[in-house]
Amino acid sequence: MDLSLSTEEIETRDWVRTFVRREILPLEPEVLRRERAHQPGIPADELAELQDKARRFGFWGIQTPEEYGGMNLSAVLAALIEAELGRSFVPFRFGGAADNILFHANDSQRDEYLLPTIAGERTSCFAITEPGAGSDLTAIRTTARKDGSDWVINGEKTFITGGNEADFTMVFAITDPDKGVNGGVTCFLADRSAGWKSEYIDTMGEWGPAALVFDEVRVPERNILGELGQGFALAMQWIGRGRYLLPARAVGACERLIEMAMEHARNRVTFGQPIADRQAIQWMIADSAVELEALRWLVLSAAWQVDAGLDSRHAQSMAKLFGGVKANEIVDRMLQVHGGMGYTRELPIERWYRELRLLRIYEGTDEIQRRTIARNLLKGHASVRGVLG
Ligand SMILES: Cc1cc2nc3c(=O)[nH]c(=O)nc-3n(C[C@H](O)[C@H](O)[C@H](O)COP(=O)(O)OP(=O)(O)OC[C@H]3O[C@@H](n4cnc5c(N)ncnc54)[C@H](O)[C@@H]3O)c2cc1C
Repeated sequence: MDLSLSTEEIETRDWVRTFVRREILPLEPEVLRRERAHQPGIPADELAELQDKARRFGFWGIQTPEEYGGMNLSAVLAALIEAELGRSFVPFRFGGAADNILFHANDSQRDEYLLPTIAGERTSCFAITEPGAGSDLTAIRTTARKDGSDWVINGEKTFITGGNEADFTMVFAITDPDKGVNGGVTCFLADRSAGWKSEYIDTMGEWGPAALVFDEVRVPERNILGELGQGFALAMQWIGRGRYLLPARAVGACERLIEMAMEHARNRVTFGQPIADRQAIQWMIADSAVELEALRWLVLSAAWQVDAGLDSRHAQSMAKLFGGVKANEIVDRMLQVHGGMGYTRELPIERWYRELRLLRIYEGTDEIQRRTIARNLLKGHASVRGVLG
């Protein structure tokens, strides 16, 4: 069994590592300052500038197919890259990406939505959650009724990431109430200019999602993404697109947090000795390092299964669940090692603490991942022997 990385994987990862060290880490104080003044950590023009800088070295469209100018990297490489980016709380991402389901665009949608999104000229958001439908997406109530050659959308969506900034949304609505999620949900590309409204939702995080209101919003028939009635499958495809990437980012955050805690523990002296010499502190560091290593391999195993064309959903749920739970335990311990300083806004630990909390909620809560994992096992779709059998 060879668990080593290929030369290409090492070189690509190391390039990103250097980029993060040179271009991203120096931004941290300014990002913290801005966020504390309730401004975006990186304004859109600065993000675009950084993305262009990376593009000059070929880093554009990490998982975007080559025919669209992307790098089309493997899931393993995407996970390694995400972990490197996760070492900083600066909200940077490489450019040249579009939501996976947008690649279902037909020819005219391709020019109007997909290509400008990849180019960074347009921004989208994915809108399925509603006030009465989160974990249970079969409960969505937003409707679209046919009127001539248009569809008219009515309903409310909530917690939509990027919903305040997006100029179009991929919104899911019931087009056939009798069929519901079994052929009666459709995905529409709805421009903001069609009349939907967004309202900022204040969260414990540094950026807020949006509530979207659709009141008689009219979209033409040609704006159906994919097939009429087949929207629920698209929604599942979006949600399952790369669940391993969320805990991958947490891998980087945990690495950095443990490093910060070790540095602090070496320097902080109490009762005549560095706290690093105390077993209580050492155990927090040791437990965190072991859990981080387990998380890293769960993420890479899930990514490897994606690349191998295996059904990776079980592995991805396990990585997402373990990542959410353990990253939260690790940040809590590393904050504890810092004592009162850990609780201040002078250090970014409290920021990570708030950000990592989200990992246990969005794109399938802990409880929903556990439900999926237990069901897979109980129904025999997965084995406790794992992927090796
Ligand atoms: C910051 C943020 C960004 C988001 N971005 C998006 C986005 O871009 N697009 C989008 O469509 N949605 C988005 N969401 C929505 C997110 O996916 C949902 O919040 C999440 O799926 C949980 O749904 P809910 O909030 O309705 O909680 P609920 O479903 O009401 O769950 C409440 C609690 O009950 C538990 N629970 C529910 N059902 C069960 C069960 N069967 N068994 C045991 N426990 C259960 C849950 O785990 C949770 O603990 C975002 C949410 C947040 C907070």
